[in-house]
Amino acid sequence: RRLPIDQEERNFVRVVEGACFSKVSPTPLDKPEVVAYSLPAMSLLGLPETELRRKDFADYFSGNKILPGSDTAAHCYCGHQFGYFAGQLGDGAAIYLGEIINEKRERWEIQVKGAGPTPYSRSADGRKVLRSSIREFLCSEAMHHLGIPTTRAGACITSDSKVVRDIFYDGHPKEEKCSVVLRIAPTFLRFGSFEIFKTIDQFTGRRGPSVGRKDILHKLLDYTVETFYPEVHTRYEDNALEKYREFFKEVVLRTARLVAAWQCVGFCHGVLNTDNMSILGLTIDYGPYGFLDMYDPDHICNASDDGGRYTFIKQPEICHWNLKKLAEAIQAALPLTESLPLLDLYFPEFELCYFNGMRNKLGLHKKLDEDRELVQNLFKTMEVTGADFTNTFRCLLVLSLPALPEFHQSLDSVKNKLLKYCASVEQMIKANQPNMDLRQFQLFLILKETNPELLEQLGKGVAAIERVTARIEKAKKLQECTQEQKQEADETEWSRWLDQFKKRLAKEIEGLSSEDEIRKLQQQRLLLMKKSNPRFVLRNFIAQQAIDKAEKGDYSEVLQVLKVLEDPYSDRIELEMPGKDSVTGASVLTDEE
Ligand code: AMP
Ligand code: MG
Ligand code: MG
Repeated sequence: RRLPIDQEERNFVRVVEGACFSKVSPTPLDKPEVVAYSLPAMSLLGLPETELRRKDFADYFSGNKILPGSDTAAHCYCGHQFGYFAGQLGDGAAIYLGEIINEKRERWEIQVKGAGPTPYSRSADGRKVLRSSIREFLCSEAMHHLGIPTTRAGACITSDSKVVRDIFYDGHPKEEKCSVVLRIAPTFLRFGSFEIFKTIDQFTGRRGPSVGRKDILHKLLDYTVETFYPEVHTRYEDNALEKYREFFKEVVLRTARLVAAWQCVGFCHGVLNTDNMSILGLTIDYGPYGFLDMYDPDHICNASDDGGRYTFIKQPEICHWNLKKLAEAIQAALPLTESLPLLDLYFPEFELCYFNGMRNKLGLHKKLDEDRELVQNLFKTMEVTGADFTNTFRCLLVLSLPALPEFHQSLDSVKNKLLKYCASVEQMIKANQPNMDLRQFQLFLILKETNPELLEQLGKGVAAIERVTARIEKAKKLQECTQEQKQEADETEWSRWLDQFKKRLAKEIEGLSSEDEIRKLQQQRLLLMKKSNPRFVLRNFIAQQAIDKAEKGDYSEVLQVLKVLEDPYSDRIELEMPGKDSVTGASVLTDEE
């Protein structure tokens, strides 16, 4: 699979034609130092904790020293960024150290993100700073422990090397410590890996660097199927077309399941470009991601996404669009007439997984048609009241605790608790501030009237303006409302939904005759809800507090947060998210119990 293009190692920036990888070396860091490691992730590599504590651990896993047998490389890939084909991107900052086969015969690829320039660094330096590394490190592990497919993070390592990023305090450039994340996954191949074969793009005029290289396309596809989809490989060994069909179908299904899992925990990826879509259906590339606090379907967590392309609610359709781009990239091996019909499997699979996930979250064992409406109404209620995503679901757990006679009473206590997690008028006004500064917005309004074509060309579009206008209207309306009026409205909304939920719960026990049976069902419901509704997610401010301390040299909070995230469904009373405030609701259940 290695396709060296040069005899010598060269990291200089260039277009790499006819190759999937370039041999490059990591650039050493000054005095690498371990911030944190993840024991469960490192154990995938068969490394016991004693090895992790070695003095030279930071050297080997920051790329300063090269492990025996390691042949380092950077991957060539392309991508559609914000809807447009960007041409060659590649591993601009990540460098492969190699692959390890552990005692269980599992094969794991390891790479260092932030290891210095590669042929794909374009105008950037190939470095990452402490804040971005901690964010990727913590969230990779958090997602894994939530049960969501993801690349893993073995360690976060910082150094004395410095780099200046575009943050300015008092007009002075801020120096930040170069840091790396040791990433681990079966593979980091992504949709973009196949877009190096893309034919000339009608909008940007760009093309993939390996367009027309059917030989390499087949080699890459065969490698991918044989190594990562072995069942497909064995079943269709003699029929290439069938094999690629089955492979593409699997990617479609896995992607649909992944997005369903994101939507069920309120995870917003933020940069769903095709180069950030794993070919294995893993969550990959943790940048400006965010877990929803107050439920807002139009939440944007990426400050540069002013078109609102990657809002929370759009994730399913965006990933479907990305799959279409993958189909186009591999059409020389699998014609579109074969691949496009398979895309029709995407939304049914997504809906199936999503509504099953939601039923689990609500503790519903029976599958009824009306559940779709119940879920939709729940989210509407959360939206208009500004309820916190994680806490709302965790709070509903209380419904399963009391025995039947106290049921009505418990509904009241749930309602009061839910109201506690609704946003205030001020918070909701703030949340509805458009993600765009006023000057920019005024310019857009002028362009909308005078030159809408230019707006479209800029990739912003009239839809963005309409979205921003709607937000402003919403914020204005809220301004006319007092806190008391909002509370009253919230209470009405939640009473209505809880009433619907109560009726639905009654259907769960239909046909059960004895109180024993009912209690048993409630026990099962409690267990189901507990394992479907996390108590801890990595909220941005939690990560930020750990980062602020780490930047001052104190890594204790990174370690504490990691420990809590390793057990996100826990109801252990002593477990608390460090630095939590009222919105983490870390003890939603514990005080009730
Ligand atoms: P991302 O937005 O993180 O998916 O990255 C898009 C592209 O930019 C990828 O090709 C990255 O490898 C590259 N890239 C991101 N950060 C850096 C960096 N600090 N130096 C060089 N390339 C980078
Ligand atoms: Mg990326
Ligand atoms: Mg990134």
